[in-house]
Amino acid sequence: MGDEWRRYLAQQAELGGAEVILSDPRTPEPPADPMPTDRPAAPAQHPSGASPAGSSAATGSPVPPAPSGSDADPTRSSAASGTEPAGAASEPKWKKGAPPIPGPGIAVLSPAPVLLGNDLGALDTIEAVAERIRTTYCCELCPNRTNAVPGEGNPRARLVLIGEGPGATEDATGRPFVGQAGHLLDTILEAIDVPRSSVYITNIVKCRPPQNRKPLPDEIAACIPYLHRQLDLIAPKVIVAMGGTAGEALLGVRKSLGELRGKVHTYNGIPLVVTYHPAALLRNPNWKKPTWDDVRIARQLLDR
Ligand code: URA
Repeated sequence: MGDEWRRYLAQQAELGGAEVILSDPRTPEPPADPMPTDRPAAPAQHPSGASPAGSSAATGSPVPPAPSGSDADPTRSSAASGTEPAGAASEPKWKKGAPPIPGPGIAVLSPAPVLLGNDLGALDTIEAVAERIRTTYCCELCPNRTNAVPGEGNPRARLVLIGEGPGATEDATGRPFVGQAGHLLDTILEAIDVPRSSVYITNIVKCRPPQNRKPLPDEIAACIPYLHRQLDLIAPKVIVAMGGTAGEALLGVRKSLGELRGKVHTYNGIPLVVTYHPAALLRNPNWKKPTWDDVRIARQLLDR
């Protein structure tokens, strides 16, 4: 068994996936399927190197393979760049046993930029939004922060993942999902062949709630305009809301996670999948399997 399979099986165990049976150990390993990108990945940023979302962002049109070298798109494999022998690509490992894409759920529109307040609509780069978050207070959480955590990643990401709010490690570093839950998120992304550097990761509230409590409705209301602006600028192809707080806040509803999972909602026409928060998976490993299913739905939506 090659290293790649060994790592995959370890990920499966970590994510609570179904047992994988290798029918013939002599069968040559299939190459990993690339994550096709229709947008060039910019370098992960922290703090972000500003790069406005391009007008091609929303079109979903394919771009030619990125050049090799430092500008190469990390989500493009040799197969995507045409160097793999014809016919060598096969079904990616994450796709085996993946559930079908479910039907539609709730459809919401984001507020128009002029309605966001504080001139947020005038901030036209992700870095400008991040700088505003770092340098201003919008609610009672802000004065108690060590660092605000605006979010980080590719400002032209095809996939945006949204959590609830920074924890202790995030508050200490100013970076999202870098604690224990973040490590699990890294594993999940790796399992669906999505490099963390290709996505954008942020939270509903950008400052840590005391004792990691859930953010209060007025804290969410004060902070969520930043998220609306971030999503507007990034214009991703798919959004994943991690946890009930993120799902409810983005969709503007009061519903249980059970009611929000298992559907493809839309935010401004962008498919939005709600799943468990990685921290919840650390508390209850039984939720890993449904999460694995949810993220594979999101992964298929990226390929669509
Ligand atoms: N939990 C969250 O919701 N966000 C983080 O950034 C870290 C943990």
